[in-house]
Amino acid sequence: MRRLRRTKIVATLGPASSERAVIARLFEAGVDVFRINMSHTPHDRMRDLIGMIRDIEKEYGRPIGILVDLQGPKLRLGTFTGGSAMVKKGDTFTLDSDPTPGDAARVYLPHPEILQAAGPNQTLLLDDGKVRLTTIETSRQKLVTRVEVGGKLSDRKGVSLPETILPLSALVEKDRSDLEAALNAGIDWLALSFIQRPEDIAEAKKITRGRAAIMAKIEKPQAVTRLDDIMDVTDALMVARGDLGVELPLEKVPGIQKQITRAARRAGKPVVVATQMLESMISSPVPTRAEVSDVATAIFEGADAVMLSAESAAGQYPVEAVMTMNRIAEEVEGDPTYRTILAAQRAEPEPTGADAIAAATRQIAETLDLSAIICWTSSGSTGLRVARERPEPPIVAISPNVASARKLSLVWGVHCVVAEDAHDQDDMVERACRIAFTDGFAKAGRRVIIVAGVPLGTPGATNMLRIAFVGADQAAGED
Ligand code: PEP
Repeated sequence: MRRLRRTKIVATLGPASSERAVIARLFEAGVDVFRINMSHTPHDRMRDLIGMIRDIEKEYGRPIGILVDLQGPKLRLGTFTGGSAMVKKGDTFTLDSDPTPGDAARVYLPHPEILQAAGPNQTLLLDDGKVRLTTIETSRQKLVTRVEVGGKLSDRKGVSLPETILPLSALVEKDRSDLEAALNAGIDWLALSFIQRPEDIAEAKKITRGRAAIMAKIEKPQAVTRLDDIMDVTDALMVARGDLGVELPLEKVPGIQKQITRAARRAGKPVVVATQMLESMISSPVPTRAEVSDVATAIFEGADAVMLSAESAAGQYPVEAVMTMNRIAEEVEGDPTYRTILAAQRAEPEPTGADAIAAATRQIAETLDLSAIICWTSSGSTGLRVARERPEPPIVAISPNVASARKLSLVWGVHCVVAEDAHDQDDMVERACRIAFTDGFAKAGRRVIIVAGVPLGTPGATNMLRIAFVGADQAAGED
Protein backbone atom coordinates (compact mmCIF):
# COMPACT_ATOMS: atom_id res chain seq x y z
CA MET A 1 0.00 0.00 0.00
CA ARG A 2 1.84 3.03 -1.31
CA ARG A 3 0.82 6.65 -0.71
CA LEU A 4 1.21 8.92 -3.74
CA ARG A 5 2.24 11.96 -1.71
CA ARG A 6 5.12 12.91 0.58
CA THR A 7 3.30 15.05 3.14
CA LYS A 8 1.79 12.92 5.90
CA ILE A 9 -1.71 13.12 7.34
CA VAL A 10 -2.46 13.03 11.08
CA ALA A 11 -6.09 12.51 12.07
CA THR A 12 -7.55 12.90 15.56
CA LEU A 13 -9.87 10.14 16.74
CA GLY A 14 -13.07 10.91 18.64
CA PRO A 15 -16.78 10.10 18.73
CA ALA A 16 -17.06 10.33 14.93
CA SER A 17 -14.21 7.89 14.44
CA SER A 18 -14.16 5.48 17.32
CA GLU A 19 -15.28 2.33 15.52
CA ARG A 20 -12.83 -0.06 13.92
CA ALA A 21 -14.53 0.14 10.51
CA VAL A 22 -14.30 3.95 10.45
CA ILE A 23 -10.65 3.92 11.60
CA ALA A 24 -9.85 1.42 8.83
CA ARG A 25 -11.58 3.66 6.27
CA LEU A 26 -9.61 6.66 7.54
CA PHE A 27 -6.40 4.67 7.13
CA GLU A 28 -7.37 3.59 3.62
CA ALA A 29 -8.23 7.19 2.75
CA GLY A 30 -4.72 8.31 3.74
CA VAL A 31 -4.11 8.63 7.49
CA ASP A 32 -0.49 7.93 8.43
CA VAL A 33 -0.68 8.79 12.14
CA PHE A 34 -3.69 8.67 14.46
CA ARG A 35 -3.90 11.22 17.29
CA ILE A 36 -5.63 10.51 20.58
CA ASN A 37 -6.42 13.66 22.55
CA MET A 38 -6.26 12.93 26.28
CA SER A 39 -8.37 16.02 27.03
CA HIS A 40 -11.35 13.99 25.83
CA THR A 41 -10.30 10.33 26.07
CA PRO A 42 -10.50 8.12 29.18
CA HIS A 43 -7.84 5.43 29.61
CA ASP A 44 -10.00 2.45 28.68
CA ARG A 45 -11.14 4.21 25.48
CA MET A 46 -7.51 5.04 24.64
CA ARG A 47 -6.54 1.38 25.08
CA ASP A 48 -9.45 0.28 22.84
CA LEU A 49 -8.41 2.75 20.13
CA ILE A 50 -4.78 1.63 20.27
CA GLY A 51 -5.88 -2.01 20.08
CA MET A 52 -7.98 -1.29 16.98
CA ILE A 53 -5.16 0.64 15.27
CA ARG A 54 -2.67 -2.16 15.92
CA ASP A 55 -5.21 -4.61 14.54
CA ILE A 56 -5.60 -2.57 11.35
CA GLU A 57 -1.81 -2.29 11.12
CA LYS A 58 -1.59 -6.08 11.17
CA GLU A 59 -4.37 -6.49 8.63
CA TYR A 60 -2.77 -4.10 6.11
CA GLY A 61 0.84 -5.00 6.92
CA ARG A 62 1.82 -1.31 7.16
CA PRO A 63 3.26 0.48 10.22
CA ILE A 64 0.91 3.14 11.61
CA GLY A 65 1.96 5.91 14.00
CA ILE A 66 0.05 6.67 17.20
CA LEU A 67 0.32 10.14 18.73
CA VAL A 68 -1.05 10.68 22.22
CA ASP A 69 -1.64 14.34 23.03
CA LEU A 70 -1.54 15.24 26.74
CA GLN A 71 -3.83 17.96 28.04
CA GLY A 72 -1.07 19.84 29.87
CA PRO A 73 -1.52 22.52 32.51
CA LYS A 74 -4.83 23.92 31.33
CA LEU A 75 -5.67 26.71 33.77
CA ARG A 76 -9.31 27.27 34.66
CA LEU A 77 -11.49 29.64 36.66
CA GLY A 78 -13.59 28.41 39.58
CA THR A 79 -17.41 28.51 39.49
CA PHE A 80 -20.08 31.25 39.53
CA THR A 81 -23.31 31.51 41.51
CA GLY A 82 -25.92 30.35 38.98
CA GLY A 83 -23.18 29.04 36.63
CA SER A 84 -22.23 32.33 34.92
CA ALA A 85 -21.74 36.10 35.17
CA MET A 86 -21.41 39.02 32.74
CA VAL A 87 -18.36 41.26 32.98
CA LYS A 88 -18.42 44.67 31.26
CA LYS A 89 -15.69 46.69 29.58
CA GLY A 90 -14.18 49.20 32.02
CA ASP A 91 -15.35 47.30 35.16
CA THR A 92 -12.98 46.03 37.84
CA PHE A 93 -12.91 42.24 38.15
CA THR A 94 -10.95 40.32 40.79
CA LEU A 95 -9.53 36.79 40.63
CA ASP A 96 -8.75 35.53 44.12
CA SER A 97 -7.96 32.62 46.41
CA ASP A 98 -11.47 32.40 47.91
CA PRO A 99 -13.09 29.12 46.72
CA THR A 100 -16.69 30.34 47.09
CA PRO A 101 -18.70 30.81 43.85
CA GLY A 102 -18.07 34.09 42.01
CA ASP A 103 -20.20 36.90 40.50
CA ALA A 104 -19.75 39.89 38.17
CA ALA A 105 -17.12 41.37 40.54
CA ARG A 106 -14.92 38.38 41.43
CA VAL A 107 -14.17 34.70 40.88
CA TYR A 108 -12.01 31.99 42.48
CA LEU A 109 -8.74 31.26 40.67
CA PRO A 110 -7.64 27.80 41.84
CA HIS A 111 -4.01 28.32 40.73
CA PRO A 112 -1.79 29.92 43.40
CA GLU A 113 1.06 29.85 40.80
CA ILE A 114 -0.74 32.54 38.76
CA LEU A 115 -1.34 34.74 41.80
CA GLN A 116 2.35 34.34 42.57
CA ALA A 117 3.69 35.02 39.08
CA ALA A 118 1.46 37.74 37.60
CA GLY A 119 2.70 41.30 37.80
CA PRO A 120 0.85 44.57 37.16
CA ASN A 121 -0.18 45.56 33.63
CA GLN A 122 -0.26 41.98 32.30
CA THR A 123 -2.95 40.45 30.11
CA LEU A 124 -5.28 37.66 31.20
CA LEU A 125 -7.35 35.90 28.55
CA LEU A 126 -10.47 34.05 29.63
CA ASP A 127 -12.54 31.57 27.64
CA ASP A 128 -10.20 31.31 24.62
CA GLY A 129 -9.62 35.06 24.59
CA LYS A 130 -13.29 36.04 24.42
CA VAL A 131 -12.82 38.10 27.61
CA ARG A 132 -9.63 40.15 28.12
CA LEU A 133 -8.42 41.64 31.40
CA THR A 134 -5.39 43.70 32.44
CA THR A 135 -3.97 43.39 35.93
CA ILE A 136 -3.99 46.59 38.01
CA GLU A 137 -2.93 45.26 41.42
CA THR A 138 -1.39 41.90 42.20
CA SER A 139 -0.72 40.00 45.42
CA ARG A 140 -0.50 36.38 46.57
CA GLN A 141 -4.22 36.54 47.50
CA LYS A 142 -5.75 38.30 44.49
CA LEU A 143 -5.37 39.91 41.10
CA VAL A 144 -7.41 43.05 40.64
CA THR A 145 -7.99 43.61 36.92
CA ARG A 146 -9.61 46.02 34.49
CA VAL A 147 -11.98 44.47 31.92
CA GLU A 148 -10.69 45.40 28.44
CA VAL A 149 -13.10 43.18 26.50
CA GLY A 150 -16.21 42.08 28.35
CA GLY A 151 -18.51 39.12 27.91
CA LYS A 152 -20.20 36.20 29.63
CA LEU A 153 -18.03 34.03 31.89
CA SER A 154 -19.16 30.62 33.05
CA ASP A 155 -17.92 27.85 35.35
CA ARG A 156 -14.35 26.56 34.82
CA LYS A 157 -13.57 28.56 31.67
CA GLY A 158 -9.91 28.53 30.57
CA VAL A 159 -7.43 31.20 31.67
CA SER A 160 -4.19 32.12 29.93
CA LEU A 161 -1.47 34.67 30.57
CA PRO A 162 0.43 35.18 27.32
CA GLU A 163 2.94 37.62 28.83
CA THR A 164 3.73 35.75 32.04
CA ILE A 165 6.18 32.88 32.53
CA LEU A 166 4.37 30.63 34.98
CA PRO A 167 6.28 28.44 37.44
CA LEU A 168 4.32 25.40 36.22
CA SER A 169 5.48 22.01 35.08
CA ALA A 170 4.18 21.01 31.64
CA LEU A 171 3.00 17.76 33.23
CA VAL A 172 0.19 18.01 35.76
CA GLU A 173 -1.01 14.99 37.75
CA LYS A 174 -3.54 13.99 35.08
CA ASP A 175 -0.79 14.12 32.43
CA ARG A 176 1.48 11.86 34.47
CA SER A 177 -1.23 9.28 34.85
CA ASP A 178 -2.24 9.59 31.13
CA LEU A 179 1.41 9.33 30.13
CA GLU A 180 1.98 6.13 32.12
CA ALA A 181 -1.19 4.56 30.67
CA ALA A 182 -0.21 5.58 27.13
CA LEU A 183 3.33 4.21 27.45
CA ASN A 184 1.96 0.93 28.80
CA ALA A 185 -0.47 0.71 25.87
CA GLY A 186 2.38 1.20 23.37
CA ILE A 187 2.43 4.56 21.58
CA ASP A 188 4.95 6.15 19.23
CA TRP A 189 4.66 9.90 19.77
CA LEU A 190 3.74 11.92 22.82
CA ALA A 191 2.61 15.53 22.34
CA LEU A 192 3.19 17.95 25.23
CA SER A 193 0.74 20.83 25.54
CA PHE A 194 1.44 24.37 26.80
CA ILE A 195 5.19 23.90 27.14
CA GLN A 196 7.05 27.10 27.95
CA ARG A 197 10.72 26.05 27.99
CA PRO A 198 13.12 23.20 27.10
CA GLU A 199 13.10 21.91 30.70
CA ASP A 200 9.45 20.88 30.15
CA ILE A 201 10.59 18.42 27.49
CA ALA A 202 13.51 17.18 29.58
CA GLU A 203 11.03 16.41 32.36
CA ALA A 204 8.85 14.27 30.06
CA LYS A 205 11.92 12.53 28.61
CA LYS A 206 12.93 11.41 32.10
CA ILE A 207 9.64 9.52 32.28
CA THR A 208 9.42 8.21 28.71
CA ARG A 209 13.04 7.01 28.64
CA GLY A 210 12.87 6.42 24.89
CA ARG A 211 9.56 4.51 24.98
CA ALA A 212 7.91 7.28 22.92
CA ALA A 213 9.30 10.22 20.98
CA ILE A 214 8.35 13.72 22.15
CA MET A 215 6.46 16.30 20.10
CA ALA A 216 6.54 19.84 21.48
CA LYS A 217 3.31 21.70 20.81
CA ILE A 218 4.16 25.33 20.18
CA GLU A 219 1.11 27.19 21.43
CA LYS A 220 2.44 29.74 23.89
CA PRO A 221 4.37 32.92 23.08
CA GLN A 222 6.91 31.86 25.72
CA ALA A 223 7.64 28.71 23.67
CA VAL A 224 8.00 30.76 20.46
CA THR A 225 10.60 32.90 22.24
CA ARG A 226 12.55 29.79 23.29
CA LEU A 227 12.08 27.98 19.96
CA ASP A 228 15.81 27.33 19.33
CA ASP A 229 16.36 25.80 22.78
CA ILE A 230 13.18 23.73 22.49
CA MET A 231 14.25 22.57 19.02
CA ASP A 232 17.52 21.25 20.48
CA VAL A 233 15.77 18.85 22.86
CA THR A 234 12.48 17.88 21.21
CA ASP A 235 12.02 15.08 18.66
CA ALA A 236 9.28 16.88 16.72
CA LEU A 237 7.07 19.98 16.79
CA MET A 238 3.45 20.87 16.29
CA VAL A 239 2.31 24.31 15.21
CA ALA A 240 -0.74 24.25 17.53
CA ARG A 241 -2.54 27.14 15.89
CA GLY A 242 -5.66 26.87 18.09
CA ASP A 243 -4.09 28.01 21.35
CA LEU A 244 -1.40 30.01 19.57
CA GLY A 245 -4.23 32.11 18.13
CA VAL A 246 -5.67 32.65 21.59
CA GLU A 247 -2.45 33.79 23.22
CA LEU A 248 -1.20 35.86 20.28
CA PRO A 249 -2.98 38.12 17.81
CA LEU A 250 -4.36 35.88 15.04
CA GLU A 251 -2.48 37.77 12.34
CA LYS A 252 0.82 36.73 13.92
CA VAL A 253 0.06 32.99 13.56
CA PRO A 254 0.89 32.56 9.81
CA GLY A 255 4.34 34.13 10.24
CA ILE A 256 5.03 31.99 13.31
CA GLN A 257 3.91 28.90 11.37
CA LYS A 258 6.53 29.71 8.71
CA GLN A 259 9.18 30.42 11.33
CA ILE A 260 8.55 27.09 13.13
CA THR A 261 8.32 25.06 9.91
CA ARG A 262 11.59 26.48 8.59
CA ALA A 263 13.41 26.01 11.89
CA ALA A 264 12.18 22.40 12.13
CA ARG A 265 13.23 21.67 8.55
CA ARG A 266 16.67 23.14 9.27
CA ALA A 267 17.01 20.95 12.35
CA GLY A 268 15.66 17.86 10.56
CA LYS A 269 12.87 17.42 13.12
CA PRO A 270 9.36 16.54 11.93
CA VAL A 271 6.83 19.39 12.06
CA VAL A 272 3.03 19.08 12.04
CA VAL A 273 0.76 21.98 11.09
CA ALA A 274 -2.46 21.69 13.09
CA THR A 275 -5.93 23.05 13.80
CA GLN A 276 -8.85 24.29 11.75
CA MET A 277 -7.23 23.15 8.50
CA LEU A 278 -10.56 21.98 7.08
CA GLU A 279 -12.81 23.30 9.85
CA SER A 280 -15.91 23.75 7.67
CA MET A 281 -15.82 20.02 6.87
CA ILE A 282 -17.07 19.36 10.40
CA SER A 283 -20.50 19.97 8.90
CA SER A 284 -19.96 20.23 5.15
CA PRO A 285 -18.77 17.60 2.64
CA VAL A 286 -16.66 20.21 0.83
CA PRO A 287 -14.11 22.64 2.28
CA THR A 288 -13.88 26.38 1.63
CA ARG A 289 -11.40 27.71 -0.94
CA ALA A 290 -9.50 29.40 1.90
CA GLU A 291 -9.12 26.09 3.77
CA VAL A 292 -7.77 24.35 0.68
CA SER A 293 -5.31 27.19 0.31
CA ASP A 294 -4.29 26.90 3.98
CA VAL A 295 -3.53 23.17 3.66
CA ALA A 296 -1.66 23.87 0.42
CA THR A 297 0.46 26.56 2.11
CA ALA A 298 1.63 24.12 4.80
CA ILE A 299 2.50 21.58 2.08
CA PHE A 300 4.38 24.14 -0.04
CA GLU A 301 6.38 25.04 3.10
CA GLY A 302 7.52 21.41 3.27
CA ALA A 303 5.79 20.55 6.56
CA ASP A 304 6.08 16.87 7.43
CA ALA A 305 2.40 16.52 8.20
CA VAL A 306 -0.94 18.30 8.20
CA MET A 307 -3.44 17.48 10.92
CA LEU A 308 -7.20 17.08 11.29
CA SER A 309 -8.74 17.75 14.71
CA ALA A 310 -12.52 18.05 15.12
CA GLU A 311 -12.95 17.33 11.38
CA SER A 312 -12.05 13.67 11.95
CA ALA A 313 -12.85 13.42 15.68
CA ALA A 314 -16.32 14.89 15.84
CA GLY A 315 -17.34 15.97 12.34
CA GLN A 316 -19.93 14.55 9.98
CA TYR A 317 -17.39 13.86 7.20
CA PRO A 318 -14.21 12.38 8.73
CA VAL A 319 -13.32 10.16 5.75
CA GLU A 320 -14.07 12.91 3.23
CA ALA A 321 -11.81 15.28 5.21
CA VAL A 322 -8.91 12.83 4.93
CA MET A 323 -9.61 12.27 1.22
CA THR A 324 -9.62 16.05 0.73
CA MET A 325 -6.23 16.47 2.43
CA ASN A 326 -4.89 13.58 0.39
CA ARG A 327 -6.06 15.16 -2.87
CA ILE A 328 -4.66 18.59 -1.94
CA ALA A 329 -1.28 17.06 -1.07
CA GLU A 330 -1.10 15.04 -4.31
CA GLU A 331 -2.01 18.08 -6.39
CA VAL A 332 0.37 20.51 -4.64
CA GLU A 333 3.26 18.07 -4.77
CA GLY A 334 2.68 17.66 -8.51
CA ASP A 335 2.65 21.41 -9.07
CA PRO A 336 5.66 22.61 -11.10
CA THR A 337 6.55 25.19 -8.42
CA TYR A 338 6.57 22.70 -5.51
CA ARG A 339 10.13 21.39 -5.95
CA THR A 340 11.57 24.86 -6.47
CA ILE A 341 9.90 26.19 -3.32
CA LEU A 342 11.08 23.15 -1.31
CA ALA A 343 14.63 23.48 -2.62
CA ALA A 344 14.76 27.20 -1.78
CA GLN A 345 14.33 26.34 1.90
CA ARG A 346 16.75 23.40 1.94
CA ALA A 347 19.29 23.76 4.75
CA GLU A 348 22.99 23.02 4.30
CA PRO A 349 24.09 19.67 5.73
CA GLU A 350 25.40 19.83 9.29
CA PRO A 351 29.08 18.85 9.59
CA THR A 352 28.42 15.18 10.38
CA GLY A 353 29.03 11.99 8.42
CA ALA A 354 25.31 11.26 8.42
CA ASP A 355 24.41 14.63 6.86
CA ALA A 356 27.22 14.50 4.33
CA ILE A 357 25.97 11.08 3.22
CA ALA A 358 22.32 12.21 3.21
CA ALA A 359 23.17 15.22 1.01
CA ALA A 360 25.32 13.11 -1.33
CA THR A 361 22.56 10.52 -1.55
CA ARG A 362 20.02 13.10 -2.66
CA GLN A 363 22.39 14.52 -5.22
CA ILE A 364 23.35 11.12 -6.64
CA ALA A 365 19.73 9.93 -6.70
CA GLU A 366 18.57 13.08 -8.51
CA THR A 367 21.54 13.23 -10.91
CA LEU A 368 21.19 9.60 -11.92
CA ASP A 369 17.38 9.67 -11.81
CA LEU A 370 17.36 6.68 -9.45
CA SER A 371 14.01 5.08 -8.65
CA ALA A 372 14.28 5.26 -4.86
CA ILE A 373 16.46 6.06 -1.87
CA ILE A 374 16.43 3.14 0.51
CA CYS A 375 17.45 3.80 4.10
CA TRP A 376 18.34 0.76 6.14
CA THR A 377 17.71 2.26 9.55
CA SER A 378 17.59 0.85 13.04
CA SER A 379 16.75 3.91 15.18
CA GLY A 380 15.22 5.84 12.25
CA SER A 381 17.92 8.53 12.27
CA THR A 382 19.17 7.73 8.72
CA GLY A 383 15.58 8.10 7.48
CA LEU A 384 15.22 11.44 9.27
CA ARG A 385 18.45 12.91 7.91
CA VAL A 386 17.63 11.81 4.35
CA ALA A 387 14.09 13.23 4.66
CA ARG A 388 15.64 16.54 5.80
CA GLU A 389 17.06 16.80 2.27
CA ARG A 390 13.52 16.59 0.81
CA PRO A 391 14.84 14.55 -2.15
CA GLU A 392 12.90 14.10 -5.38
CA PRO A 393 13.06 10.27 -5.55
CA PRO A 394 10.89 8.44 -2.99
CA ILE A 395 12.41 7.39 0.34
CA VAL A 396 11.88 3.84 1.58
CA ALA A 397 12.95 3.29 5.21
CA ILE A 398 13.47 -0.33 6.13
CA SER A 399 13.85 -1.12 9.80
CA PRO A 400 14.00 -4.31 11.83
CA ASN A 401 12.57 -2.21 14.63
CA VAL A 402 8.79 -1.76 14.41
CA ALA A 403 8.90 1.20 16.82
CA SER A 404 11.27 3.09 14.47
CA ALA A 405 9.07 2.37 11.45
CA ARG A 406 5.97 3.59 13.28
CA LYS A 407 7.75 6.76 14.39
CA LEU A 408 8.95 7.46 10.84
CA SER A 409 5.37 7.25 9.55
CA LEU A 410 5.09 10.92 10.60
CA VAL A 411 8.10 11.99 8.55
CA TRP A 412 7.93 13.70 5.13
CA GLY A 413 8.26 11.32 2.23
CA VAL A 414 9.21 8.20 4.17
CA HIS A 415 7.53 4.92 3.16
CA CYS A 416 8.21 2.66 6.15
CA VAL A 417 8.76 -1.08 5.99
CA VAL A 418 9.45 -3.47 8.86
CA ALA A 419 11.78 -6.29 7.86
CA GLU A 420 14.03 -8.81 9.52
CA ASP A 421 17.55 -7.44 9.95
CA ALA A 422 20.08 -8.27 7.24
CA HIS A 423 22.96 -10.67 7.93
CA ASP A 424 25.55 -8.60 6.11
CA GLN A 425 25.88 -5.83 3.54
CA ASP A 426 25.18 -8.02 0.49
CA ASP A 427 22.09 -9.42 2.15
CA MET A 428 20.98 -5.86 2.97
CA VAL A 429 21.40 -4.71 -0.65
CA GLU A 430 19.53 -7.73 -1.96
CA ARG A 431 16.63 -7.29 0.46
CA ALA A 432 16.49 -3.54 -0.13
CA CYS A 433 16.14 -4.09 -3.89
CA ARG A 434 13.50 -6.77 -3.39
CA ILE A 435 11.41 -4.50 -1.13
CA ALA A 436 11.77 -1.56 -3.56
CA PHE A 437 10.44 -3.88 -6.28
CA THR A 438 7.61 -5.52 -4.36
CA ASP A 439 6.38 -2.24 -2.82
CA GLY A 440 6.25 -0.69 -6.30
CA PHE A 441 9.13 1.79 -6.01
CA ALA A 442 11.48 0.33 -8.65
CA LYS A 443 10.94 -1.74 -11.77
CA ALA A 444 13.37 -4.50 -12.81
CA GLY A 445 16.39 -2.99 -14.56
CA ARG A 446 16.14 0.31 -12.67
CA ARG A 447 18.62 1.46 -10.05
CA VAL A 448 18.19 2.51 -6.43
CA ILE A 449 20.57 3.93 -3.84
CA ILE A 450 20.94 2.30 -0.44
CA VAL A 451 22.07 4.22 2.64
CA ALA A 452 22.91 2.64 5.98
CA GLY A 453 25.09 2.69 9.03
CA VAL A 454 27.53 -0.19 9.18
CA PRO A 455 28.11 -2.30 11.15
CA LEU A 456 24.32 -2.78 10.93
CA GLY A 457 22.37 -2.02 14.08
CA THR A 458 24.59 0.90 15.17
CA PRO A 459 22.06 3.71 15.72
CA GLY A 460 22.99 7.07 14.24
CA ALA A 461 26.10 5.82 12.38
CA THR A 462 25.04 6.57 8.80
CA ASN A 463 28.25 5.95 6.89
CA MET A 464 27.55 3.91 3.76
CA LEU A 465 25.87 4.37 0.40
CA ARG A 466 25.65 1.97 -2.52
CA ILE A 467 23.98 2.09 -5.92
CA ALA A 468 22.36 -1.16 -7.00
CA PHE A 469 20.30 -2.56 -9.88
CA VAL A 470 16.94 -4.10 -9.22
CA GLY A 471 17.23 -7.40 -11.08
CA ALA A 472 14.52 -9.18 -13.07
CA ASP A 473 14.41 -11.83 -10.36
CA GLN A 474 14.14 -8.97 -7.84
CA ALA A 475 17.60 -9.78 -6.57
CA ALA A 476 20.31 -7.18 -6.60
CA GLY A 477 23.33 -6.83 -8.81
CA GLU A 478 25.85 -4.12 -8.04
CA ASP A 479 26.48 -1.21 -10.35
C1 PEP B 1 -4.11 23.58 19.25
O1 PEP B 1 -4.28 24.34 20.20
O2 PEP B 1 -3.99 23.97 18.07
C2 PEP B 1 -3.99 22.13 19.51
C3 PEP B 1 -3.66 21.29 18.56
O3 PEP B 1 -4.20 21.70 20.78
P1 PEP B 1 -5.56 21.10 21.37
O4 PEP B 1 -6.30 20.48 20.23
O5 PEP B 1 -5.10 20.10 22.38
O6 PEP B 1 -6.25 22.26 21.97
